[in-house]
Order: sequence, then C-alpha cells, then structure tokens
Amino acid sequence: HDIGIQIVEKDGQHGAAFYVGGGMGRTPMIAPLIKDFVPLDDMLSYAEACLRVYNRYGRRDNIYKARIKILVHEIGADEYRRQVEEEFLEVKKLGIDPPQAEFDRIAAFFAPPAFETGLSDDLDRSDPDFAVWLDQNVLPHKAPGYAIVNISLKPQGGIPGDASSAQIDLMADLAERYSFDELRVTHAQNIVLPHVRKADLHAIWQSLADNGLAEANLDLISDIIACPGLDYCSLANARSIPVAQKIATRFADLGRQRELGELKLKISGCINACGHHHAGHIGILGVDRKGVENYQLLLGGSGAEDVSLAKITGPGFSEDGIVDAVEKATDVYLAQRADGERFLDTYRRIGMEPFKEALYG
Ligand code: SF4
Repeated sequence: HDIGIQIVEKDGQHGAAFYVGGGMGRTPMIAPLIKDFVPLDDMLSYAEACLRVYNRYGRRDNIYKARIKILVHEIGADEYRRQVEEEFLEVKKLGIDPPQAEFDRIAAFFAPPAFETGLSDDLDRSDPDFAVWLDQNVLPHKAPGYAIVNISLKPQGGIPGDASSAQIDLMADLAERYSFDELRVTHAQNIVLPHVRKADLHAIWQSLADNGLAEANLDLISDIIACPGLDYCSLANARSIPVAQKIATRFADLGRQRELGELKLKISGCINACGHHHAGHIGILGVDRKGVENYQLLLGGSGAEDVSLAKITGPGFSEDGIVDAVEKATDVYLAQRADGERFLDTYRRIGMEPFKEALYG
C-alpha cells in the first residue's frame, strides 16, 4: 500500500504501525516500516504528515513517478521518516485528530452482532463432500458455535470471480437468513459469510451446492485471482481470463489440488498489476511480444505477513505454454518439498534454479 496501517498493541495500549511507500504496478515495492507505534489519538495527524511530505517532494510532474513509493525509494526510508516526524510536530498543532466521541460514533457502526450463547460446536461430517468443503472453505470464528464461510466464485473452468444474478440473489438471501445480514467481497474475488452458526453450515452448503457455489478450493491452485485482461480492459496486453480457466481445468482434480496445498496464483494482463501477480506464490504477467500475447512466469511472491515480491523465471510462454509451465513448477515443488512445506516455503528454501532447470533446461 501507499500507506499501510496495522493496529498493534504495546504496553496494553492500542496504536498504529505505519508502513509507507509500497505498491504494485510497474515498480513493485514493499513498504518499509516508518513508525512502529503511533498512539491512536495521533493516527490521523501522522497520516497527514506522511501525505504532506509527499505533496512537498513527490514527483507530481511525472505520471510514472507520482507515487509515495517513488519518493520513499529515492530519499530512503530514514530520511522520509525524519521529515515525517518533523512535519508531524507541526500537524499536531492543528488539532485535526477527531475527539473520542467521533471514534465512538464510528465504532458503533461496527458493533459485533448479537451472537447466541450456549451453541454447540459439534458437526456431522458424515457426508464426504460436505466434510471436504468444511475443511477447505470454512474457517474458525471467535464466537463459540459460529464459523466463517468462504463462498468460492472459482468453479472449475469458470470465469474467476463471476456470479450470475440468481447466484448473487441466493448469496444475499443466505446472508440475510444465516449471517446477520452481512456478506463481504474479498480481494481474492470470493464472498464471505462472516458469522454463521455451525448448526446451519450443512443447510448453507446444500443451497450453495444446488446453485454451483460449493467449490471447495479456497486458497488452492484453482482459486485464481485474474484481472479482466484483454477481454474487457483497454489497457491490457494479453488475456487473463482464458489462462485462468485453462490452468483451473488442468488442475481440475480436487484431490490433486489439495495435495498441492495452499498455492496462490495471480494473473495480470499488463504491467499495471491489478491481478497482483507480484504477490502470487505463482504470478503470471501478460505481455505483448511483437503483437502476440505472451506470458511471463513469476515465483515466490506473497501478499501475506511473510510478504515478498515474486521474481520472473525467464523468457515468457505462449498461452498454452504457460499452463504447462505452471504444471512443471508444481512438479518441482512436489518432488522437492519437505514435510509441511507449502509451495512458497519450498521455493524459498531451494531458490529459483531448480524451477528454471525444469522450465528451460
Ligand atoms: S492489470 Fe492491466 S489488463 Fe489487467 S485490469 Fe489492470 S490495467 Fe487492465
């Protein structure tokens, strides 16, 4: 992010850690930590100071360089931090931080729902398809007797993130009936029902399964993030959606996907990186090579707490070639992984060379 704020706790007090100067696009950068603890009362002033330093020295004269990340990179995190700290002392005098009453007013909109108490955590897992869906798409909830349901919008061979109007109506109905009328759209192009009673999980799964929404592939290789690409985007160099469909079809067998485990695959149709390919365990970037769509393969990215930028393996591939290349990369992982390692862990341990060897050797 340009400015990433993480709520942290120190000596029993809540505050904010500020990471400033990250971003994707043609110059991907990981935001450095600028301040590890800003008291919540100062948060807005500190963000204002971050912006003011950028407004004063940022490259607004050049569209490609008009980003905080470019400024932080050019002057360095230490110098940027020094200037922000100096500016913060001035901003603080303006008294722009909202009073506690305003925080309380906003917080009231995010009050937790009225969870029932005394609910059972027991689940009947006798239906094997339901059990797989539970294991893959349902996550623990902090309230006893409740769970978090992820609805995958990645049916095998379908368009990632698409849903029909009937499916959208169904998900809205399920949210209304089972999840305190709340439904969230994730950056991974899926849907979350955040507060579901465990006792209702089977009924929800049944409804989803009847309507093509019970794909049990959360965080697996077919749970692909793909930007619209050349099918819909006028900036694109290459199509993203058909590549995602072909990869998902190649790995259609759910047992094979689960054997591969967590594997985040992200596809962008151009260097703008809307599909976050820099942060994919496997990333794919569509490029234009003399008027022909071509696909670069990247490995080793992560957008999670173990953040890293993916690296390009080498020369690009054709549309079908990239599907083979992804499969070869997963073969290297399967052959080399140690106990409990995800694809990303194995890549980090063995490095790029074995993958290059398999792809180009
Ligand atoms: S990454 Fe490029 S092709 Fe994809 S949506 Fe963004 S601008 Fe369009």
